[in-house]
Amino acid sequence: MANKQLPDNLHRDTLAVRVALESSQYGENSEALFLTSGFVQPDAETAARRFAGTEDGYTYGRTSNPTVSSFERRLAALEGTEAAIGASTGMGAILMMCMGLLKTGDHVVCSRSMFGSTLTLIGREFAKFGVETTFVSQTDVAEWKAAIKPNTKLLFAETPTNPLTDVCDIAALADLAHGAGALLAVDNCFCTPALQRPAELGADLVIHSGTKYLDGQGRVMAGAICGPSKLIVDVFGPVVRTAGMTLSPFNAWVVLKGLETLGIRMQAQCANALAVARWLETQPGVARVYYPGLASHPQHDLAMRQQSGQGGAVVSFDVVGNDADTARANAFHVINSTRVLSIATNLGDTKTIITHPGTTSHGRLTEVQRQAAGIGQGLIRVAVGLEHIEDIKADLLRGLGTLT
Ligand SMILES: *Cc1c(COP(=O)(O)O)cnc(C)c1O
Repeated sequence: MANKQLPDNLHRDTLAVRVALESSQYGENSEALFLTSGFVQPDAETAARRFAGTEDGYTYGRTSNPTVSSFERRLAALEGTEAAIGASTGMGAILMMCMGLLKTGDHVVCSRSMFGSTLTLIGREFAKFGVETTFVSQTDVAEWKAAIKPNTKLLFAETPTNPLTDVCDIAALADLAHGAGALLAVDNCFCTPALQRPAELGADLVIHSGTKYLDGQGRVMAGAICGPSKLIVDVFGPVVRTAGMTLSPFNAWVVLKGLETLGIRMQAQCANALAVARWLETQPGVARVYYPGLASHPQHDLAMRQQSGQGGAVVSFDVVGNDADTARANAFHVINSTRVLSIATNLGDTKTIITHPGTTSHGRLTEVQRQAAGIGQGLIRVAVGLEHIEDIKADLLRGLGTLT
């Protein structure tokens, strides 16, 4: 059965459900899961052409797979980029980007508030190979500008940040990068293309941890890079083929189906998060709330412009406490008093997750580094899910209402 050709100019919600490779001869309506490591070639000549890259066609699972291709096409359609390439995890995508773009003697400028493993990968692992990185303020564009050198190849940003939700100006950083002949990559994990499309604002590459909102139900690990075909096909394709940070077809299928509900999940989770953030601001046990959707957020206007008027689904807050020990005890009391929320290291799940960054994600930093990053002992991060808002508030109030 011939597949219908999708018309141009479809809305993003439609692309999220419809973009994929064409269905097989069986006419399946839900995209098929191709669990196969190899692909049978019709004859030796065709195999030779496919391995030489002069003819399209699947050969071996490390290089590509139809289910992975469907995920890549759908994500690229949502981000508004020419192409995308899957990776085994979000960190696998960042590794692929760095391997593809950087060599000894190159320089990177990167926000110092990036995801912890990203800081370690670039600042420590790639430093071993002679790639130098300058870490700068998330929000001060002048600091980014001052850090640029003649050998700067890449500016790498993430917005909003984890856990304090600081927002950087993607368009301003894109101008800066291009003025210096460098590329701008943006980790779009927190907002997803449902809220924020960095490529439309000038970013060259968009990085994803598919593990988070793209899957959306905390099931599988996945990652991706979105960008122009000349980089995805010519630069990153060969890296994944030789280095093997390949996205598994099963995980690609789960995330592909997750993309179908991304828009409505993000809307509902952002609405819950805004309600939680506003409510937290009224609680006597709370000293400060960090959420881009609140007027009190230092980059509120920028966030609303850049993120389709939404704050995202991660809310952080400081509980009261006169010193670090009291603040930590109070934070632990709030976390331990929950009976619905999950104490877990993840985000972007339909289940609301509560964490204490100071002793988990940022636990390995020294106290001085933690203070420089603004991570106090009273800080709690809530990645808001899809439970009823009154149940989420009641669960937080169990501890907040009984602080001594
Ligand atoms: C989780 C995360 C990553 C890494 O993704 P994995 O799939 O866990 O490897 C990268 N960036 C951000 C912002 C993240 O939250």
